[in-house]
Amino acid sequence: MVTSGLLPWAAALELRRALRQGGCPDWEFEGPFLVELVTGRQPRFDETPLDQAQAHRLESLLQKRLARVPLQYLSGKWDFLNVTLKVGEGVLCPRSDTELLCQEGASLLEGCPSPRVLDLCAGTGCVGIGIKSLVPAARVTCLEKSPAALPYLGENCTAYGVDWVEGDLFGYEGRVPAGSLDLITANPPYLTGAEMASLQPEVAHEPAMALDGGEDGLTFYRYLAARYQPCLKPGGWMALEIGWEQGPAVSALLEKAGWTRVRVCRDLEDRDRVVLARRP
Ligand code: GLN
Repeated sequence: MVTSGLLPWAAALELRRALRQGGCPDWEFEGPFLVELVTGRQPRFDETPLDQAQAHRLESLLQKRLARVPLQYLSGKWDFLNVTLKVGEGVLCPRSDTELLCQEGASLLEGCPSPRVLDLCAGTGCVGIGIKSLVPAARVTCLEKSPAALPYLGENCTAYGVDWVEGDLFGYEGRVPAGSLDLITANPPYLTGAEMASLQPEVAHEPAMALDGGEDGLTFYRYLAARYQPCLKPGGWMALEIGWEQGPAVSALLEKAGWTRVRVCRDLEDRDRVVLARRP
């Protein structure tokens, strides 16, 4: 129980204890993080006791976290690469796993003076905005279908100079002028039916629409492989995030659909995370 009059560091210790007992794996980091959300100051440098409103707010954050609401939703903003993005209920949280997609995508644009980039299934916009931050000369458009995600996408894109549009990946290729893009990126929903049935408690709070890739998890890759190649300039690239077990299946789909130079990239945990493919 968080009470007024507690010093912030003591409150952080209380929170750590409660989060640990509640089974939140990152309790050590999250205790002081939640206190700082409420006070705006790092607890260990803060000598001002919590007032009643702060204690109240902290107690309510703690209860939400114990209910395994993602920390990103409680914070309302999250750092990704070198940008800070608005995030909340209704949109997939930006994950550090996804930074690799931006880095690989950006390196494919080297030597391209003013590249055109389309990011599909944009969510918060982290992929498109991350690429824009690495390649400022790029003109990036983010596409998103979910009405709940669009307000976050709009705000983030406006803050970082990226265009955004409402629409569905299934069919949007018909609205892209043929041969106009240098790079297509996507972090599509890719969890399998079995994975959707056993989500981590935090992930279960995130929109199923952003996670569910159909029974075998590959629905979006099949469509991307079959339909999006004509949108690219000859020699243009597609870069896709994948689940760590999907490298061989997604590579095979792309090769069968006529893509070249198909390559899987591994993340910092040495797991398959991104697939690259080129329009011949
Ligand atoms: N990486 C996410 C997870 O496993 C899934 C995101 C997605 O489906 N694109 O929680």
